[in-house]
Amino acid sequence: MKQTTNQSSTKCPICKSETPADNEQYPFCSSRCKTIDLGRWVDESYKITRPIEHRDLEEGVD
Ligand SMILES: [Zn+2]
Repeated sequence: MKQTTNQSSTKCPICKSETPADNEQYPFCSSRCKTIDLGRWVDESYKITRPIEHRDLEEGVD
């Protein structure tokens, strides 16, 4: 019989595979997934720090 107590493990937010709580890269299953997540954050901050070019929009409006 198999115990289904998943208290000490969670799913990797990137690839959804089971990740033990004592994993070095927790909550990620691997350094690869951790890097992917980091890349997402970098991408997000690009979007935030990049200003919307109102001038361009105004010039484009007739
Ligand atoms: Zn993963």
